[in-house]
Parts: sequence; C-alpha cells; structure tokens
Amino acid sequence: KHGVRDVLRQLGIQAENAAYSTGLHWGGAQNAKTRTILAPADGQRLATVAMATAEDYDQVVKTAQEAFKTWRLMPAPKRGEIVRQIGNKLREYKEPLGKLVSVEMGKILQEGYGEVQEMIDICDFAVGLSRQLHGLTMHSERPAHRMYEQYHPLGIVGIISAFNFPVAVWSWNAMLAAVCGDVCIWKPSEKTPLTAVAVQHIIREVLEANELPEGIFNLVIGEAEIGAAMAADGRVPLVSATGSTRMGRKVGEVVGARLGRALLELGGNNAIILTKNADLDMAMRAIVFGAVGTAGQRCTTTRRLIIEDSIYEEVKNRLLTIYPKLPIGHPLQEGTLVGPLIDGDAVKGFSDALTKVQEEGGKLLTGGQVLSGAEYHGGHYVQPAIVEAENHYHMVQEETFAPILYLIKYSGGVDNAIELQNGVKQGLSSSIFTLNMREAEAFLAQAGSDCGIANVNIGTSGAEIGGAFGGEKETGGGRESGSDAWKVYMRRQTNTINYSDQLPLAQGIKFDV
Ligand code: NAD
Repeated sequence: KHGVRDVLRQLGIQAENAAYSTGLHWGGAQNAKTRTILAPADGQRLATVAMATAEDYDQVVKTAQEAFKTWRLMPAPKRGEIVRQIGNKLREYKEPLGKLVSVEMGKILQEGYGEVQEMIDICDFAVGLSRQLHGLTMHSERPAHRMYEQYHPLGIVGIISAFNFPVAVWSWNAMLAAVCGDVCIWKPSEKTPLTAVAVQHIIREVLEANELPEGIFNLVIGEAEIGAAMAADGRVPLVSATGSTRMGRKVGEVVGARLGRALLELGGNNAIILTKNADLDMAMRAIVFGAVGTAGQRCTTTRRLIIEDSIYEEVKNRLLTIYPKLPIGHPLQEGTLVGPLIDGDAVKGFSDALTKVQEEGGKLLTGGQVLSGAEYHGGHYVQPAIVEAENHYHMVQEETFAPILYLIKYSGGVDNAIELQNGVKQGLSSSIFTLNMREAEAFLAQAGSDCGIANVNIGTSGAEIGGAFGGEKETGGGRESGSDAWKVYMRRQTNTINYSDQLPLAQGIKFDV
C-alpha cells in the first residue's frame, strides 16, 4: 500500500539469505534460524531474515582482522575520501532509505529522512576529521630529546545498536572508526535488521568502486547472543553498545572483565525544567516534540517536566489542549506526528507503567489508551499520556520507552528544580526554559545539571552531530559522534626520541654501569 516492496527493491534488498556480510558478499549457514520482520505500522510482513550463527560470527571476525592489516595502512585522508563517497551515496539514497527507516522502525517519514541526514552529516564531519587526528607535542625535560604523541588505529570496533535509531547510531560509530583506521562489525537490533541490510548494500557500491577488500564494514544479523559473543571476544578491542541500561550493564561487565574498552550509550530519563521566567510558547513546542516525537522512543525523549508552582496550572492546561488533538497514525501518512510503538511488548510496557504509576499515587490527566480500529491496524498505536506525579515514584525513576510525560511541581528556586532533575539514576539529556540569566547559568554550572547534555531554551531531544553525545551515571558514560569522541576509537602512543649522544635518564636518576 505504501510502496514498501518498491523501497526494498530500490535498495537492492535480498534479505532472505543474508545472515552476515563482510562488505562485498553475503553469507550464512544453511538452515539458519530466521526471524520475520513485521512493520510496526500495520503488522504487515516485510521480510524474513536469516540469523547468524556463532560460526558465522567467527568467520566475520577473521575477515575483519585481515582487512584491518591493509585498512590501517591507508593514509587517514584517503580513508576520509572513502567516507566522503559513502556520504554521497547516502545523499543519493536518502529518500528510499529514510522511507525504509520509517517503515521498519515506525517513526514518521520526516524523522526517517532526518535519521539519514544525520548519517550524511557525520560523514561530512568524519571527512574533515580525517585530516585532524591530532596528538600533542611536549617539551622533554632531557636535552636533545623530543616528545610527542600519536593516535593509531585500534582494530575491530564492535557496534551493537538499538531499534530506535536503526542506522544513525551505526554511522556515528562506523564513520569515525573508518577514518581512524578501524574496521567495524555491526550487530544491529534484531527488530530492525532490514535497514542495516540496506545500508550494507549502499556501502558495497563504494567498496566495489574503490576496489577495497572484504572486511572493512561488516554486518552480522543476530539476537542478543551475537552481541554477547562480541562483548566477550578479545579480538574486539572496542565494543560500542547502544541500548537499555540492562544490556549495557551486562556488556560493560563482560568487556571490563577482559579489560577491553566499552563505549556505552544507554537509557535516559530526561527532564525539562520550566521556571516562571520561561517563554512558554517556545517551551510548548519543545515539550511536545520531546515527549511524543518518535512516539516517546528516543533515548533523549522528554519524560519529566519539572514546573515552578506559579505556572504549573497554566502549563498543564496548555498541554491538555494540545495532547488530545495530536495527529496519531500511519508513519508514512502526511501530517502524522505520532506513529506506532515498535511492537506489542512496547505497548504492554506503556500500559503497565501507567497502571503502576497510578497505584503509586500518580494521576492520569490525559491519554493512555491503546488505539483500535482500521486505521490503527496492528495494535501498536497509543494515545500519549500525561501523568501528575512525584519524582520519587518508582515508575518515574524508570525509563519507560513510550510516550508518557510526568508533570512534577517545584517551589522555592531553581536549585530545587535542579535537585529533582538530577534525582534519577540516569544522566543523558536535560534542559531548562528560562530567560533569566542566573537560572540558566546555575543550571549549567558545576552544581547544576549532572547530565551529558544540558540545554537552555531547547528541548532534550534532537542533538546535533557536532557535539559529543552521551550521558552520565546509568546512561553509561560513553561519548560518540562529534567533538573529540574519535579518541576512543584509537590507541594513543607517547613517543620520546633522543637525538643526542648521551643517555640521560628521566628524573635525573644516576645509573652508571
Ligand atoms: P535493547 O537493550 O533491548 O537492545 C539493544 C541492542 O543490544 C540490540 O542489538 C540487542 O540485540 C543487544 N543486546 C541485548 N542484550 C544483550 C547482551 N546481553 N549482550 C549484548 N548485546 C545485547 O534496547 P532497545 O529496546 O533496542 O533500545 C531502546 C533502549 O536503547 C532505550 O533504553 C534507549 O534509551 C536506549 N538508547 C540509548 C541511546 C543513547 O545514545 N544513549 C540511543 C538509542 C537508544
């Protein structure tokens, strides 16, 4: 009905026998386990994918190890040139790939395109970065000695990604890793493998055109156990894992036990503070986009609204006029702002959270229904909810990956609001709406927001790729994307060179033999 088959064809997708890819070729064991992928929007079967086995995974790692030996020798700006071509291919395929993101994940078409744009943006960033993998030089304490540091490629980067940004998160990691001289193995969410297959088809065109070997960009489709194998694998020096805190805790423990590197991008519980000095017209747009955009399935989704008591009723009433009119529907339908949740489990999570928070004393003000009827075929559509709650409620402390917004009242100054904002286990994104400079600066200062992202007069979701992205506490502490996030993808080496005819020791130590 929405041209899904055409999109799959345009992207060259032959998912049926694609358990893994090493860049140029596809493979997979005969009689492999399969998984049927259904569209969240209407339950329609999109494709069946083969799941990789442990042997498949092992084969991919071996191929990647070989590729690393040549890829790391290519000058970084030449690797940047490959990434530039990938960016251009993504521009060419933006429309069908964005549409496929929307079809497979269920986010609205505009956000599907936005996700591909993010991939293009990180390609551009990585191209520039390929000429800027700088180390520092230092003055040696010894005469006729020189000291400097270099960044060298690390090896295989394992990328475990979540369903909600099925392709952008891969590109944030893979494009930086590529210019850094690393090779990647991508284990996408088992809920969204088709977009990963599509991306792999797109980059194959670049690999072929440049006569590059197998094994630079690899894909392994599988369940959590493939991710777990990667976490335990000493051949993978860096595992970048995006997903729930539950997953990150396991991956972090296993990678830590072998003293590998883990870059963890986990759950958020993001708040917007509204003081009486807020521009409420601006704030409303940010709140609604943040709370119901992507149907509440962003790690940066606004989950809590911390409102100064004097404006509480006004804010509540304004939201209560907007929420019932939200256009909910098929993600490809023009005008839709809220699409479906990813699957039945997510719908159950939404309903259960609302039941539990009401048991704790929360007051459901609007929404909360699971929608039924022909236009909501498939059963994954919900009416976004607003609940009056207190910050300490168990359910408010948890991340429910669905559109539930908790309203929390504060009084007695911005410090009290900041304490509430920080009073959760997660630390991803945060924001304050105020035109008062003292309040804004207090929020950004060392005793202010404890999150990796802190915004003023901008909502919690919708980060740009130029900054380092990630969060503190149970969000995992990782940073990826812009700024100097690239450093985690490389190993740092300090070099000291003696061009004298003496061998003075550091710290002036005398050791004559
Ligand atoms: P999930 O944790 O269920 O799955 C994420 C990925 O981890 C999948 O590929 C899955 O197969 C894999 N996985 C699961 N258990 C594993 C294990 N024990 N070992 C190795 N791999 C394992 O998460 P999800 O439902 O796909 O995504 C939603 C979650 O992701 C939310 O909590 C959201 O906040 C978070 N998220 C965080 C960010 C961020 O940048 N901080 C970005 C997007 C999503």
